[in-house]
Amino acid sequence: MDTFDFVIVGAGSAGCVLANRLSANPNNRVLLLEAGGPDDRPLMAMPLAWRDTFLDPVVNWGFLSEPEPYLDGRRIPAPRGKVLGGSSSVNGMMYSRGYPVDYDHWRQLGLAGWGYADVLPYFRRSENNWRGESLYHGAGGELTVSRHHADKVIYPRLMQAAEKLGFRRLDDFHGPDAEGFSTPEFTVHRGRRGSTSARFLAPVRGRANLKIETGALAHRVLIERGRAVGVAFEQGGEIRRAMAEREVILCGGAFNSPQLLLLSGIGPADELAAAGVKALHDLPGVGKNLQDHASIAAMWAAKGEIAFDSKLRFDRLMLSVLQWRLFGAGEAAGLPVSAQGFVRTRPELEWPDMQFLITPVSMAARPWFPGWRKGVGHIFSAANVLLRPESRGEVTLRSPDPRDKPKIQFNLLQAQADRDTFRRMVRFGRRFFETAPASELVSAQIAPPADAQTDEEIDAFVRGAVGTAMHPTSTCAMGTGPGAVLDEACRVRGLEGLRVVDASVMPAIVGGNTNAPVIMIAEKAADMILGRPALEAAAI
Ligand SMILES: Cc1cc2nc3c(=O)[nH]c(=O)nc-3n(C[C@H](O)[C@H](O)[C@H](O)COP(=O)(O)OP(=O)(O)OC[C@H]3O[C@@H](n4cnc5c(N)ncnc54)[C@H](O)[C@@H]3O)c2cc1C
Repeated sequence: MDTFDFVIVGAGSAGCVLANRLSANPNNRVLLLEAGGPDDRPLMAMPLAWRDTFLDPVVNWGFLSEPEPYLDGRRIPAPRGKVLGGSSSVNGMMYSRGYPVDYDHWRQLGLAGWGYADVLPYFRRSENNWRGESLYHGAGGELTVSRHHADKVIYPRLMQAAEKLGFRRLDDFHGPDAEGFSTPEFTVHRGRRGSTSARFLAPVRGRANLKIETGALAHRVLIERGRAVGVAFEQGGEIRRAMAEREVILCGGAFNSPQLLLLSGIGPADELAAAGVKALHDLPGVGKNLQDHASIAAMWAAKGEIAFDSKLRFDRLMLSVLQWRLFGAGEAAGLPVSAQGFVRTRPELEWPDMQFLITPVSMAARPWFPGWRKGVGHIFSAANVLLRPESRGEVTLRSPDPRDKPKIQFNLLQAQADRDTFRRMVRFGRRFFETAPASELVSAQIAPPADAQTDEEIDAFVRGAVGTAMHPTSTCAMGTGPGAVLDEACRVRGLEGLRVVDASVMPAIVGGNTNAPVIMIAEKAADMILGRPALEAAAI
């Protein structure tokens, strides 16, 4: 069949959820187009291998930003999954929703139905939380949220230091009290990566009304008389067309969805003309408003052999992999994370502006064995993540060729407020590891170097070290103003039959990791697309 009710472009976090929900009714003919291939690389499902997975060029689009003007011209890697499951097949699996205030802010921007009380039932619908069902959590959904078991040496010391600094010890980052320290939780199901491909798509792949095409790169949306009627895509060197009788839904993520709109002649008319694309619909906001969580890794040398490097000795690592293969358990079935805090870097702030994620290992860690090669040593690193950035970037076309990568300009550290927050974050990290008993775990700080003390010295370090937490959003934002690309139902303004449903729809980035919020957005959009009433708002 080449004619469907719904054509979904992109089988990522949002696309797999939508494919599941829209095809639940056997009368709906659904096509899911994915540029990448199957998610069957040998170690993809193994949580400990997540860094190798996201660096694997076979499953990564391999985007790199343009030279960043506020980072001395450095180019920033922008990994994205190009595979079934999209970025949920390569991500770090941390479960986080951001803060209620993030969604209440969306509602205040004029997006009715997107306040936290409105979206909480959608978070719950897809959730299978280890705690079971409650006002704040769902059970029995596809998205398993599993508990992280804290270690007995490092974790208690970190928590005592956090308490000394006045932070609460939390039981649940998503309960009523969400500011403080605890262990993060992960979208890991029985020791395996809980990507949306594994959890939402695999169980329904046999549905006769759901067709999944991999290796299918969408080139443009076909527009006739102001209505999206299908998608032109390339597969195996051939250009094909799939027609949509009801809707085309773009789920390509925050870089590719705006690129596809632009390639289809939907975007700022002057930019389209300059890029050699015939403008069909002037929509100035497409590709603008790019936001991401800027992030740096601060590092300390561990005092003694107490960190994760011991477990990376090749023979021990192989045993862990075997244990994982046989039982879905052991070190390889989880991620080496010690503790996480959500922190206000200024007391007068209403909500945390920093995520502080402590791991007993450096990002550069690798397997080692005596006589073969050395390990990187025992290190603690702490990701300092800027949760509410003010800098804004953009995604534009490099050329009218759909095979070309889009141009990505993050403009990280453009805003003075962001640079100020980094100064406070660096100083907070130092204060944290100077506080006993966390101080007993480390000998000296490695990064930033101890002599980076003044604002200017810290700024220079941050400029050279900052990257992103790989949470790009907001490039096809819902909203009401002139920059809005979508209305509150994710419909492209001024066109019929076309929606965007993915991380790009967020009007403002949320203060936490973005996978669960994208899944929530897809859950909610599914109801809108199917014309079902919204779930009743939660009584919080
Ligand atoms: C390395 C990494 C680590 C991360 N860690 C975490 C974490 O720990 N916790 C967390 O919550 N979030 C994390 N994130 C972010 C989170 O995974 C993303 O926000 C989320 O997956 C985005 O979902 P999406 O549906 O918007 O896009 P994606 O999941 O990226 O899906 C887009 C899909 O569309 C496909 N596609 C794009 N263009 C086309 C086209 N033209 N034709 C056909 N197909 C196309 C892509 O191949 C992809 O499969 C991480 C992301 C990365 C990359």
